[in-house]
Amino acid sequence: MSKRPSPISATVDFDADGVQHGFLKLPISTDESAWGAVMIPITVVKNGEGPSALLTGGNHGDEYEGITALLKLARTLRAEDVHGRVIIVPMMNVPAAQAGRRTSPMDGGNLNRSFPGDPDGRVTEQIADYFTRYLVPLIDVALDLHSGGRTLDIIPFAASHHLDDKQQQRQALEGAKAFGAPTAMMMFELDAARLFDTAVESQGKVFVATELGGGGTTTPERLMIAERGVRNFLIHYGLIDGTPEMPAEGQVYVDMPDASCYVQSEHTGLLELTVTLGDTVEQGQVIARVYDMTRTGADPVEYHAQRSGLMLARRFPAQVNMGDTIAVIGEVVDALDG
Ligand code: CA
Repeated sequence: MSKRPSPISATVDFDADGVQHGFLKLPISTDESAWGAVMIPITVVKNGEGPSALLTGGNHGDEYEGITALLKLARTLRAEDVHGRVIIVPMMNVPAAQAGRRTSPMDGGNLNRSFPGDPDGRVTEQIADYFTRYLVPLIDVALDLHSGGRTLDIIPFAASHHLDDKQQQRQALEGAKAFGAPTAMMMFELDAARLFDTAVESQGKVFVATELGGGGTTTPERLMIAERGVRNFLIHYGLIDGTPEMPAEGQVYVDMPDASCYVQSEHTGLLELTVTLGDTVEQGQVIARVYDMTRTGADPVEYHAQRSGLMLARRFPAQVNMGDTIAVIGEVVDALDG
């Protein structure tokens, strides 16, 4: 069953040398704009033959580290510095990013749960489909910059996945290390089927994911890690010249072997985390308490680490609902094997 062509058109020429700033235009018809379009900003920087890289942020609209780093790169990367082609999309889900939300206010769509997408679907599925069928086939390597957004805070790391193709897995892991975040890891996804990651990996392309902070804001340190990492990624895959800058204190390697890394709430209430992001915890240790907000005098519910390791992520808001991820604990390892 073949899909119809995407309704999205690009105002940039992916084969032209030089720097182009333009849009991916998706026609929409709304109360505010009968013959309108969703305009996704895109920059293409091309210089002769060479590899092609796709750099993306704003897959979730409230993850500002990647959005900010890529907006800055798009206005500064010069064609003469590039070997090949760099495609930059700082806000993949631009309606979500402009609304400051994880998901799109146009259709409620979570872009990173909408792949491979559908040209006949709603706006978010149409965006996913364009990436899957038009942009990913153009590229060799992809870097997707995430963070925790408003509801999670995550230590800055770059990650790759366990893949059936071991060469592809090794190439991605080397890129994740070369990004030069304080932590590099092999990541276990709770539900990989509809991720952008899977759409890229299933086409045999190298995919590196990052989480670079969260809380719905940025800090100077995390932006430095994001910007340095993007440069390191481009150097590693031969798109720009230079020497990668790695963290002076070295890198910590982490594995997420299975779902026991995730601690999820079975209660609703006020969250007290007893461990700081980036700390080491022991299996069985109390890492959080949840208090009943409807009465005084009740004992809180205690949450324990199901494994020993590094506290990689935490819920950011102080209130917690049933099913929310409270914390993620990764296993510190001496080496990551591709
Ligand atoms: Ca995300």
